[in-house]
Amino acid sequence: MTSLSDLPIRDDLRGLTPYGAPTDPVRIQLNVNENTHPIPEAVATDIVMALAGAVMNANRYPDREFTELRESLAAYLGHGLTADNMWAANGSNEVLQQTLQAFGGPGRRVLGFPPTYSMHSIIASGTGTEWVTAPRDPAYDITPENVVAAIAEHSPDVVFLCSPNNPTGTPVSNDTIVAAYDATDGIVLVDEAYAEFSDRESALALLEGRPRLLVSRTMSKAFAFAGARVGYLAADPAIADALRLVRLPYHLSALTQAAAVAALAHAPEMLAMVNEIKAQRNRMSAGLEALGFTPVPSESNFVLFGNVADPQELFHKLLIQDILIRDVGIPHHLRVTAGTEEETTAFLDAMADLQTLGRVEQ
Ligand SMILES: *Cc1c(COP(=O)(O)O)cnc(C)c1O
Repeated sequence: MTSLSDLPIRDDLRGLTPYGAPTDPVRIQLNVNENTHPIPEAVATDIVMALAGAVMNANRYPDREFTELRESLAAYLGHGLTADNMWAANGSNEVLQQTLQAFGGPGRRVLGFPPTYSMHSIIASGTGTEWVTAPRDPAYDITPENVVAAIAEHSPDVVFLCSPNNPTGTPVSNDTIVAAYDATDGIVLVDEAYAEFSDRESALALLEGRPRLLVSRTMSKAFAFAGARVGYLAADPAIADALRLVRLPYHLSALTQAAAVAALAHAPEMLAMVNEIKAQRNRMSAGLEALGFTPVPSESNFVLFGNVADPQELFHKLLIQDILIRDVGIPHHLRVTAGTEEETTAFLDAMADLQTLGRVEQ
């Protein structure tokens, strides 16, 4: 067998490792921020019916403009948006990739603020875009002053702001987003994958009159649709025209379009669990704090917590009990997704046991 290093791969990809959240099949899977609640059966039935219709026409290419899906997405987001403002792809990761294909690329730079979503830098490298970074303050906040200074220092072509941010759960204020927009002639993309779990005003409210501002969303998290692979963004219609230059023709299959439109018709049912998930997130934070850990205040469906003596050890002791969480590489921290009530209880009980047994030193 040939090894990767023997292949004539691009020089800038040599030595890189792919995205790889461990995906062991376990009883309690709290590692990749999915919605832990399944799709309601009545909604699933409707989606299956829509898929059946799409299969009957699968001899034809799908609607290249996915018009019905863009209409459904605009109606879901509100904010006076129309289908012309919308773009979609196979997960918001593909939306981000297309954005960097159009606005980044060789000789161009994208600015990010670690710790942040690991795919941002991986998509940068895949598209040959230089990934440059600036720090956050100790509470993981990005102030308007800091964003302006970072843009002045790096002159990026694209700025990625993740709000609420993965893996910290912390928001980026609309003041910071406006400051970033005013400080650059480039693209400002706000990754709002977790927006439905936050009570704050979305950056969608800032789109009017800002043609270089992009707000990306996904159906993978609050919408309980990670397996279907549907992400999207809202922006000025000219942005969609730019993305049409780099997308592959018919990139959204007829099955994906049909499933997503059917699911969006049931948005309230699909989102019914959001309040329950927020309640479990708050329970996790309170429980972790009571055990002597330091949870970061979260506006998403997961909690990053610090004061972990040995993250690797704690990760493995939980895994032995069939509980999978995430080591995101921040010293003395781990991240856990809010589960169902039972899953959250199982996680907190396991943490309490490990604490009592003195396995985790503070
Ligand atoms: C999970 C996540 C996404 C979603 O990716 P999809 O490709 O839509 O599943 C995007 N951004 C962030 C910050 C995420 O955590």
